[in-house]
Amino acid sequence: MLFSERVFCGDLTPNDIGRQVLLAGWVDACRDHGGLMFIHLRDVSSIIQVVFNPEITPPAVCERAASLRSEYCVAIRGEVKNRATGTENPGIETGTIEVMATELTVLAESDVLPFAVSEKAMVTDTAPIDREQVSEDLRLQYRYLDIRRASMRRNLTLRHRIFQTVRSFLDSRGFVEVETPMLTMSTPEGARDYLVPSRIHPQSFYALPQSPQLFKQLLMIGGMERYFQLARCFRDEDLRPNRQPEFTQLDIEASFIDEEFLYELVEELTLRMFAAAGISLARPFPRLTYAEAIETTGSDRPDLRFGLRFVDVTDLFRETQYSIFRQILERGGCIKGFNVKGASSSLSKNVLQNEYAKEIVPSFGAKGMTWIRADNGGLESNIVQFFSERELQGLRERFGAEDGDVLIMIADPSYAVVTSALGRLRLHMAERLGRIPEEGFCPAWITDFPLFESTEEGGVTSSHHPFTAPDRTDFDPTDVEELLTLRSRAYDLVMNGEELGGGSIRISDREVQRKIFRALGLSEEDVRERFGFFLRAFDFGPPPHGGLALGMDRTVSMILRTPSIREVIAFPKNRSAGCPLTGAPSPVKREQLAELGLLNLNAQAATRGVSEEDGLDHLSWVSRIGFKAEERPVLVQGLDEAERLALAALEKAADIAADREPLYTVVRATGRTRPGTEPSRSELSGSGDLFKNAPSLKGDYFKVAGILE
Ligand code: ASP
Repeated sequence: MLFSERVFCGDLTPNDIGRQVLLAGWVDACRDHGGLMFIHLRDVSSIIQVVFNPEITPPAVCERAASLRSEYCVAIRGEVKNRATGTENPGIETGTIEVMATELTVLAESDVLPFAVSEKAMVTDTAPIDREQVSEDLRLQYRYLDIRRASMRRNLTLRHRIFQTVRSFLDSRGFVEVETPMLTMSTPEGARDYLVPSRIHPQSFYALPQSPQLFKQLLMIGGMERYFQLARCFRDEDLRPNRQPEFTQLDIEASFIDEEFLYELVEELTLRMFAAAGISLARPFPRLTYAEAIETTGSDRPDLRFGLRFVDVTDLFRETQYSIFRQILERGGCIKGFNVKGASSSLSKNVLQNEYAKEIVPSFGAKGMTWIRADNGGLESNIVQFFSERELQGLRERFGAEDGDVLIMIADPSYAVVTSALGRLRLHMAERLGRIPEEGFCPAWITDFPLFESTEEGGVTSSHHPFTAPDRTDFDPTDVEELLTLRSRAYDLVMNGEELGGGSIRISDREVQRKIFRALGLSEEDVRERFGFFLRAFDFGPPPHGGLALGMDRTVSMILRTPSIREVIAFPKNRSAGCPLTGAPSPVKREQLAELGLLNLNAQAATRGVSEEDGLDHLSWVSRIGFKAEERPVLVQGLDEAERLALAALEKAADIAADREPLYTVVRATGRTRPGTEPSRSELSGSGDLFKNAPSLKGDYFKVAGILE
């Protein structure tokens, strides 16, 4: 067989009718029509129907064809034919033609599949298999089969197209792609580092980069002026559904520029990335300051696809007789709300009071919610009688209330509670009422972030990272109150309620950088140890510079509208940060740790379960049962005693059965519920909030760590 003759299924059109072709790929599906055999042959390009007809196909080929099963890898020679009228399949691109087989080579057989790969029905009125039915861990365990699905291949191919678009656009603007190290020092992006031990330098570690931040700034000091990289970054963060421990960032940095340069560049780039998938976006992107975003949507990554913007009504109630509002205002609080236009038929009093005011809003952190329905030319609710006519009139005007509208308000002494609870309520109601347009994309820049956030210890921490330029430099680094008033020259690109990326203009003055480190409470020595090499570069004429990074997995997932970012990553980790395909992360051999000098790190066993000295910790770890330090001696004693008895019993058994096979006991794994209760699905699980941090889902259940009996 000469593969050089091979053509792709998707290249065949009615113009090829009568042509002899060699095709190669996988059997997507088979249909046996009593002697007449049909298969869907799938390759990287598409699917085509192949017919084995005993009147034309040689008998030996028909016989072999009868043994074909899904996902056999085959090569087929045959003639392209027109399909008989009425037998066309509009579900596939080549649905008006087929190939009449004359030769068949089975290149490799396939085991029975763990899940169906085929996404295309052979007969038009049968529904294709819904992949949502297959557990994600099973898909990831057999990812190579999952990637055979046309939809996964499409995702990966479009990801590649988008990456190509990025590379060629940035190249056209004079940006150079430079690779920065993977084995490096810690970068302060706010997450934990993944550490890599060094064999050559025992007990010393590299950190995998959380971002190329320090290196890209050093490239600017090195005079590269315009840098980019499609960089892999690693952050050891708590599990969240749409996060990956390793992810791809488009990292950009440029010198002698300001914010406007980056806005123009990134807007144009974003337009082109979306255009690569046939979506057109409009420029310029709107800009909101952080304060405006919080004030009107309660979020610093607002979803601007729909309204429900907040209205402040605090001033209307300065003189109010309604005691709840009065007390809140006396404590310096505020009242904000939004108008859910025309929603009074969908939001009954019962839903507003019993679901929202009593359950949902308290779960968002506010004490309660006030609702008013505009009906019959008036306003009605369970509390309107406490409001004066002037207050009611004020509300009507402020919210632009008309019959059929529902006014929602939250009052609280804390501005942060009001905005954040109202922000979550805004999203909840928009979703419930179907007010979020599926098709729309609403990008925006969020600017003027606070430079610092306060810490529980009474200090400050960087909102972005410590290299972000402040809006002014004449601050006192020891005055926490003043530090919290500083704004940064940082910007985030947000879209549809998600942060696609962000960056900042950097500090290029070494004195200002030192001041920031001082504000962060880092001693001269800490700074020297962690960033000495970096600060030293600032002694050699650093240019003004700035940049940003876009999360590419998230961006591609948004462009392709996939339900999770794992759909656009070839081999992602699952929700528990594990890889079901390879089994990573996995324990390592004791010898490997010894070679790395990790067994005696600080004179203690480094890893649970690798050292006998650590038996109790190991037991505690596998059984998920903790103990207090003062309990250790007695537990160690108990464990020693158990071990002594076990060994004695073993010796005895060995004496008795010296020549018998050893016995193994495997404890049966069982699901347990409290005595007298039946396993059932929690009512609260429906909201998704109860177990939102659960590592993984199986059907309607949340998987939790196994507990050994
Ligand atoms: N290093 C930043 C991040 O990864 C992006 C930037 O400031 O350019 O979020």
